[in-house]
Amino acid sequence: MSEDRVKKILSLLEKAYPDAGLVLHYRNPLELLVATILAAQCTDERVNKVTETLFKKYKAAKDYGSARQEIFEEEIRSTGFYKNKAKNIIACNKELVERLGGNVPDTMEDLVTLPGVGRKTANVLLGNVFGKQAMAVDTHVFRVSHRLELAKSNDPDKVELELYRIIPQEKLTRSCLVIGTHGRRTCVARKPLCDVCVVEKLCNSPDKIYTTPNV
Ligand code: SF4
Repeated sequence: MSEDRVKKILSLLEKAYPDAGLVLHYRNPLELLVATILAAQCTDERVNKVTETLFKKYKAAKDYGSARQEIFEEEIRSTGFYKNKAKNIIACNKELVERLGGNVPDTMEDLVTLPGVGRKTANVLLGNVFGKQAMAVDTHVFRVSHRLELAKSNDPDKVELELYRIIPQEKLTRSCLVIGTHGRRTCVARKPLCDVCVVEKLCNSPDKIYTTPNV
């Protein structure tokens, strides 16, 4: 992977999506932590609907930590995998209260010790509320990285490491947002909009689809 090619891809994506940012709604690290756990296998739009009500009721780690599992399950049911998510969010917040004074930690080392928090969730937090450089490999970043041959691994944690090798450290968080936005808006899973893709000339993916003749 030439440095030039990566630079070109990132610069074109940056120009195409100057408004790239998280779709999840949140006002503080705890809300982003809960929203990110809920977002697994669910659309961000659906999570935003659920958290609009949830965040009015649960304001601090102790509120989630003392929630009744069956009630909480119903409150987040529409995000899918609700039993597991409820179990993890409650357990995670109990640990925040018991071990960390109710505060969301700002290091990868501490974040991944929390129930339901893997590297992706930790990186979302590090990059977006703690001002660090981080690459959160969600389904969109994973797909785009493969299609543009930025990474090869089938393991998202390894894709993260592959991206660390080719993207300058100081650009990680921003690159993550523009790559993810490209995946949501253009390089979508089923029918990517290759006709209007700004990096089409740099893409050799077998998933390319054209709907306009002679493009
Ligand atoms: S050309 Fe198509 S497959 Fe390639 S990056 Fe663009 S939208 Fe994705």
